[in-house]
Amino acid sequence: MSGKTRFAPSPTGYLHEGHLLSALYVWAAAEAFGLKIHLRIEDHDQSRARPEYIKSIYEDLEWFGFEYDSDSIQSKRNPVYEEALARLDNAGLVYPCFCSRKQLEAENPKSDTGEIVYSGKCRKVNTSMDTLVPSALRCDEQPHNLRVIIPDKVIKWHDMRLGDFDENPKLQCGDFPIRDRDMQWTYQFAVCVDDIDEGITHIVRGEDIRSSTARQIALMQLLGRETPPAYLHHSLIVDATGKKLSKRERAHSLRQDRDAGLSKETLLGRVCFKANLQPENTPLSLAEAISLAKQVL
Ligand code: GLU
Repeated sequence: MSGKTRFAPSPTGYLHEGHLLSALYVWAAAEAFGLKIHLRIEDHDQSRARPEYIKSIYEDLEWFGFEYDSDSIQSKRNPVYEEALARLDNAGLVYPCFCSRKQLEAENPKSDTGEIVYSGKCRKVNTSMDTLVPSALRCDEQPHNLRVIIPDKVIKWHDMRLGDFDENPKLQCGDFPIRDRDMQWTYQFAVCVDDIDEGITHIVRGEDIRSSTARQIALMQLLGRETPPAYLHHSLIVDATGKKLSKRERAHSLRQDRDAGLSKETLLGRVCFKANLQPENTPLSLAEAISLAKQVL
């Protein structure tokens, strides 16, 4: 086996049906393409991660029978992120940004998807103060976040399910934060460093994260990874009106169903039914659920 995929839940709540569906696709891709599986606990945001959610991720995966080859937790990997940040900083690619949320809203245009496209205002301020490239890491004026300078170029990438994309992250979001004002690593930064460092060759995740892909490829290139991973953004569970899993359904955890005495076969069958992987709500074993997911890869 040469490739590796990953399942990367954030421990900011208990796992719900959306996670279960994602896990089925990750394990299905691993089977289909002969990949190793890495479990990554994405607790980069320490203000939202909770130990009970971390513990529950391990327990839920074990209860369903999802097996993986390796695991990691972002909160234990600070030196890796520090080193990656120092490399970007040495290359003059990082600057401190002092804009408040209110300023960001008021002063910047929005993309077609409603996302703020940062103008690079603080970069201009910083570079005009120094003739040499200044180190963003020496900035002691608080509070500030650190942004990475993203090149103005189109990223061409391919999704195994959705096809080809040509996207310019400079127009989607502009230079984006890699460490926030509370010194927490951002999702975008931690995920790129990890996907490189952990040798991830195949990224399988929900299509709600698809819009992050071009910027992640751009950042990975700045971090030295020229060939991006292969991508597969799977469809999400939708209700009869085509809407994504509701907040209430997302808040309803697999753990609650387990505690209520539902079997894993019932939960696997139900999630496959809701995701249109099977026509009836029939209980399924894990192997059966994975093979249904494999058919639509
Ligand atoms: N941690 C993210 C989530 O739970 C997944 C990020 C990714 O797969 O890139 O939604």
